[in-house]
Amino acid sequence: MPVTPDDARLMDVQQGGRCFFCDGPVGAKSTFDHLIPQAYGGIDDPANVVLAHRRCNQRKEDRLPTDEELDRFFALRRSSRLGVWPPLRVLRDEGEGADEEERWIAVAQAISQTIAQQIARQR
Ligand SMILES: [Zn+2]
Repeated sequence: MPVTPDDARLMDVQQGGRCFFCDGPVGAKSTFDHLIPQAYGGIDDPANVVLAHRRCNQRKEDRLPTDEELDRFFALRRSSRLGVWPPLRVLRDEGEGADEEERWIAVAQAISQTIAQQIARQR
């Protein structure tokens, strides 16, 4: 589900009105950054999205979130209805020691599993 204006407001409150990446105030100029990039199958859903400056969003481009960013994201979402997209959990559990390629493979597998589960549930 795409991010609704309500979701965006809640995100803004939870992030204290600050950019997820640089911690500077974002104000009305915030953009949605997809933690798992859409180019690699990340969904356009609050469970995969944070608020960020346009420039920070652009600087991040199409990389995966770091362990530190994942930790902060999980802390923000601990008791939030915005939730956490399951492949992000897999990425965190894959965690330290995994090289970039292993992380991408883990994410790709988690995304296909998540989609398969959703399809199974709809039947
Ligand atoms: Zn920023």
